[in-house]
Amino acid sequence: MALALSALIALLLAVSFPFISFSVSGVGNRIELSQTATTLIGFHQPLVAIAVIMTIAVLPAVYLLGVLWLQFGLLRDHPLPFSRSIARSLAHLTPWMMADVFIIGALVSLIKIAGLADIELGISFWAFCAFALLLLMTTQSIDADWMWFSLEGEPLAPEGTKTGLPAAEQGLTGCPTCGLINRLSSQGRGHCVRCHEKLHQRLPQSLQRTWALLTASAIMYIPANVYPIMTTTSLGSSTPSTIIGGVVQLLQMGSWPIAAVIFIASVIVPVGKLVALTWLCLVVKRSNLLNAQSRTRLYRLTEFIGRWSMVDVFVVAILVALIRAGSLMSITPGPAALAFGSVVVLTMLAAMSFDPRLIWDLPLPTPLRRKAATKEPVDG
Ligand SMILES: [Zn+2]
Repeated sequence: MALALSALIALLLAVSFPFISFSVSGVGNRIELSQTATTLIGFHQPLVAIAVIMTIAVLPAVYLLGVLWLQFGLLRDHPLPFSRSIARSLAHLTPWMMADVFIIGALVSLIKIAGLADIELGISFWAFCAFALLLLMTTQSIDADWMWFSLEGEPLAPEGTKTGLPAAEQGLTGCPTCGLINRLSSQGRGHCVRCHEKLHQRLPQSLQRTWALLTASAIMYIPANVYPIMTTTSLGSSTPSTIIGGVVQLLQMGSWPIAAVIFIASVIVPVGKLVALTWLCLVVKRSNLLNAQSRTRLYRLTEFIGRWSMVDVFVVAILVALIRAGSLMSITPGPAALAFGSVVVLTMLAAMSFDPRLIWDLPLPTPLRRKAATKEPVDG
């Protein structure tokens, strides 16, 4: 509660003071945090604007208010109404909060324009850094097991659950949100008795959905690289730059660490994720005990790194807001910003729709299969 409250206060400070100010030979501009999103609307990029404001402020604020509501009830030993649905949504919100990624985006933007202007970091910048750190500490300090235990009492496995046997064979499944073992209906569906999350023995049409989302993001990756992500107009001449062009430009400026960050976040991560998920979809049916563990690790990695690709979208949002229609210089967003943002969201959705349990649906080794085939069916 203390961390969530501090994070919320830091966020309030971050939205009420100037974020960054800069000046070129006397002509200056000063932006607030919200302008990183609102300026994009002015350039007909409402979807990118919504993505920016949702991931850096709105969803984290909802999350923190949810944590406060929930923990306040638990502290008084008397859960407040809607506690169960809030506890369930906390788990769903976590991957979409990107305050930490935004800070990397802000640092990259500052280094990009450091040579062109005098920059001053406002109170809001430091408040936002504190907010991102506190938000991270809040998500890390929530003990989901304890929370569900306090909300809904001691978890009990369904009657007749046997250890040492795969859950699927017994018609059981673990809840992806609260972890409780549940018995499924004969169609392999149901709802978690503790958190009411929808349960499936395996996610329905998991591979088809993942393929569709992967194809969509591979298609969007083409305009994301062909079109410029932003256009810099300086003294009347416009220079559009693509994602790769931006990396090359940074290399020419000599800031290779930043070039490496952008190259990893915008090229290696999305391409690596597309390749890894495609490969997992192709080979999942042919998993065996030797490779199942490494495949699960690969899946977890793709799920974890996906959101870091948003760095480039945040860089565009910050630079566009900061360097606006000035007399000397202006930066406008390009069509690639929306295309690239959708690649990030689509690959994240693809990773979520892939059911890693499929990796463990191994064919039984031959002697065991023979044994299983000859075994008499057991009553009950
Ligand atoms: Zn559950």
